[in-house]
Amino acid sequence: MDATKILLGEGDIPKAWYNVAADLPVPLPPVIHPGTKQPIGPGDLAPLFPMALILQEVSTEREVEIPEPVREVYRLWRPTPLYRARRLERVLDTPARIYYKYEGTSPPGSHKPNTAVAQAFFNKQEGVRRLTTETGAGQWGSALAFACRLFDLQCTVYMVRVSYEQKPYRKVMMQTWGADVTPSPSERTNAGRMIRGRDPNSPGSLGIAISEAVEDAATHDDTKYSLGSVLNHVLMHQTVVGLEAKKQMEMAGDPPDVIIGCVGGGSNFSGLAFPFMSEKFGGRKVRFVAVEPEACPSLTRGDYLYDFGDTAATTPLIKMYTLGHTFMPAPIHAGGLRYHGDAPLLCLLYHHKYIEAVAYQQRTVFDAALQFARAEGIIPAPESAHALRKAIDEALEAKKEGRPRTILFGLSGHGHFDLGAYEAHLAGRLEDFAYPEEAINTAMRELAAIQP
Ligand SMILES: *Cc1c(COP(=O)(O)O)cnc(C)c1O
Repeated sequence: MDATKILLGEGDIPKAWYNVAADLPVPLPPVIHPGTKQPIGPGDLAPLFPMALILQEVSTEREVEIPEPVREVYRLWRPTPLYRARRLERVLDTPARIYYKYEGTSPPGSHKPNTAVAQAFFNKQEGVRRLTTETGAGQWGSALAFACRLFDLQCTVYMVRVSYEQKPYRKVMMQTWGADVTPSPSERTNAGRMIRGRDPNSPGSLGIAISEAVEDAATHDDTKYSLGSVLNHVLMHQTVVGLEAKKQMEMAGDPPDVIIGCVGGGSNFSGLAFPFMSEKFGGRKVRFVAVEPEACPSLTRGDYLYDFGDTAATTPLIKMYTLGHTFMPAPIHAGGLRYHGDAPLLCLLYHHKYIEAVAYQQRTVFDAALQFARAEGIIPAPESAHALRKAIDEALEAKKEGRPRTILFGLSGHGHFDLGAYEAHLAGRLEDFAYPEEAINTAMRELAAIQP
């Protein structure tokens, strides 16, 4: 078979999400209430999320049905294409076969609407009128703005200030779909005012923006909060990516030896990886590699500890690889990869060595992005280019060792709103940032005090 695109029909859109919680080889540590130090119950989450999503969060059913109205919206862009990167393979002169699952064909341009649409649907069903959220580079905010529009919900987005300023067109995109967008830290919440009191020029972070969006939802009755990554139900919604990819790799007759994805909070990586992971639980030799920036190295340099999900320390404690909730990331261009922690499910599997992790500096990532754009045409999102960097390195290793292998990576989105970063790279103005060891040590000492 010598296809370039391996395509499915609309009838192949999955009818159920895959819930990895059903197949975990080790139990997932509970989410802990910071006051009582006891596991939280569904009632604790009720002010923030609709009950349907809370039940998905704790579900251990292997398959959770995708409601028909959600599948109907998925039809706007799903199934997404799987590509064989033949031109890139030729440029690299590698015996490896490289495939990528491309999520940039969605209206917002990334994988994020896979969960945004589902979350908007379940909120609407329970009578919610408005959703609040945070966004980094703007992909999540635009995905939720799009989803809220389709299910007739209001949408308030707290956007990390540095991204709000670096990427004004994402804001316009969200406003085009009717969302209300505020740079964070803002003056609209106690959390925002507190940070601005300490540092009026704070560039913001995902953690701060989460604090603001959570506070807004918790203090308004008709409003719930929506999170674009990290939580179990979000990762589960993203498994449409891996379920489709599995079928497509079967059509190609080429089972992957290594599956690679970039990790911000862990949703696109897990969405692609988890449906293949059950094969690994069953003993098949397949590698999974999570890729993160050196400027935010939660998996490769953080510790596996309980931490808050947000900077203002208002969320429950979750066990994850973390750099500490007080982490302030350098202003790298992969805005979606600047979160201090990672999804508990992904962290558990990484901790037990089902997943490997690697970190890269941003200049080498952009080198890979240019090489890919010049071979394959698609201009990758800076986040996705982290996965691409590792895919290229795997292909080069295959060449060095003279051993072919099948590589599958997630191309989680396009970079059409990140051309400022490409401009900086082309002009040689992009800087590398490695996170200082001392900052990690300080954060870990602080975390010791809050362990249950
Ligand atoms: C948000 C985003 C990411 C990182 O988030 P995950 O939850 O780790 O997937 C990666 N790629 C793109 C294109 C994104 O928009």
